[in-house]
Amino acid sequence: MTKDMGTDSVNIETPNETQDAALPVNFVQNIISEDLAQGKNQGRVHTRFPPEPNGYLHIGHAKSICLNFGLALANGGLCNLRFDDTNPSKEDQEYVDSIMEDVRWLGFDWDDRLFYASDYFEHLYEYAIQLIKKGQAFVCDLTAQEIRDYRGTLTEPGQESPYRNRSVEENLDLFTRMRAGEFPDGSRVLRAKIDMASPNLNMRDPVIYRILRATHHRTGDDWCIYPMYDYAHPLSDALEEITHSVCTLEFSDHRPLYDWCLDAVDYSKEAQGRPQQIEFARLNLNYTVMSKRKLKELVDQRYVNGWDDPRMPTISGLRRRGYTPEAIRDFADRIGVAKRNSMVDIGLLEHCIREDLNLRASRVMAVLQPLKVTISNYPEGQVEWLDTDNNPENPDMGTRKIPFAKVIYIEQEDFMEDPPKKFFRLKPDGEIRLKSAYIIRCDEVIKNAAGEVVELHCSYDPESKSGGATAGRKVKGTSHWVSASHALEAEVRIYNHLFMTENPDDEEEGTDYKAKLNPDSLQLLTGCKVEPELAKAVQGDRFQFLRQGYFSVDLDSTPEKLVFNRIVSLRDSWAKVAGQK
Ligand code: ATP
Ligand code: MG
Repeated sequence: MTKDMGTDSVNIETPNETQDAALPVNFVQNIISEDLAQGKNQGRVHTRFPPEPNGYLHIGHAKSICLNFGLALANGGLCNLRFDDTNPSKEDQEYVDSIMEDVRWLGFDWDDRLFYASDYFEHLYEYAIQLIKKGQAFVCDLTAQEIRDYRGTLTEPGQESPYRNRSVEENLDLFTRMRAGEFPDGSRVLRAKIDMASPNLNMRDPVIYRILRATHHRTGDDWCIYPMYDYAHPLSDALEEITHSVCTLEFSDHRPLYDWCLDAVDYSKEAQGRPQQIEFARLNLNYTVMSKRKLKELVDQRYVNGWDDPRMPTISGLRRRGYTPEAIRDFADRIGVAKRNSMVDIGLLEHCIREDLNLRASRVMAVLQPLKVTISNYPEGQVEWLDTDNNPENPDMGTRKIPFAKVIYIEQEDFMEDPPKKFFRLKPDGEIRLKSAYIIRCDEVIKNAAGEVVELHCSYDPESKSGGATAGRKVKGTSHWVSASHALEAEVRIYNHLFMTENPDDEEEGTDYKAKLNPDSLQLLTGCKVEPELAKAVQGDRFQFLRQGYFSVDLDSTPEKLVFNRIVSLRDSWAKVAGQK
């Protein structure tokens, strides 16, 4: 076992100049490159992604998945998927299934390397017996509160437990009986015997086993004692021969305990090498929360419609909303891997999906708030099928036909009866061009009894379509439209930030994060009119609705009632910044 685990090498931050262009540029890769150069771990690179199955994965986990699987791929190594299931009261098979689905959807593969910490319960128990025999663990009868009281503070050393010097025999006897179920929950724990005066609180005789009667989603009622994360994690890593155990910054202070477990336990018969813990900064995104506890609370208390609500920062929520795995991987790439926590603007994530869909989503016409337009001089009953590009930025996507007829819909906001000066859309006696069709002039405004505009009577210039004598005639505005008799009815869901403030987790004002939920995070538009082409759309298809944004076909969509999610608007405050990238 190598004991000089390079905790000092964790401080390299600048990219290595001689680095292979294909390798990721981040400090974890630098550590790996150095380890490989020194022939550490027999030249192996083996990482793992270790979720606890106590909730659905979020975009922060996606960062960790991309990093761990990405490092393995780039270095010819392997990455395991390991469920860190040592806390049965909060874990569930539903979460296991959703996590596997999400990792696969993101585009990563663990092959046959699917593991569970619970697979190691017997090993972990044996290791605990080993520690007891070596005098490095003891059964403690203090209550949880007493353990806290004895623990000391950052400035004061802790106090040793009166049970700390039990004999090996007594400890073996009690621990065996803990396993056998002789004692009530919480009445005793097994603690590592380290140092109650350590400046690191995690090293003050940490609890490594507790008694808990809870049915485990895999081991059922086989066990009534469960190992603690800080003990189970390093040893699970060791058993899987992980070389680089990448985790988030809050575990920095736990690293001495991670190393202590690896030193104290003799696992070398089962495994080669020794894992090294490396910490990186977790992803924080503004206008959302990212803790599973809080996300679960939003689901359980029905602030949102489930884990896959398109407003959620969960991978399943982003998927349902219409995000692509490519966009999420691109995002993970752009945010990089740092050693200091920071807040990432959600605008960057939105930029990534726009970039991805720009060249591959078909552009179609959808009128979200329809205003009826009758074209007085257009022949009754006539239908023309006009050509239009599927994506002018990607000619390979071809063209399609759209029907034009006497009655059409335009967007309500594309007409103003009494517009300000620079309004380049339709107004009384004004003209606009209808996208891929004709120029129309507004001749008459029809209102209802309440004085609201309900219809326009217009006339069209028959020579103004493509190929016509006045096709090149310039008018200031172009509007999207659909033929009324051909249009399909749709419901459109527009999402806004889930929270009103940038950092809802910031509870300094003493308010709960839920008080900052955005009451307008979901805007439901019914009676929208979309072009008939969309009859072919199936769940998950993505489109650009001209001038409106990118949209996806929702899970709730049926041929009778189409339902679309707005993935993102077209406005992009990141384009300029990213252009300099
Ligand atoms: P949460 O705090 O959101 O409940 P967690 O850390 O408890 O998350 P785990 O299931 O333990 O969730 O996480 C699995 C892996 O994902 C861990 O290695 C963890 O460090 C990493 N991870 C969790 N949240 C983030 C994040 N916001 N950014 C990057 N990595 C994260
Ligand atoms: Mg965790």
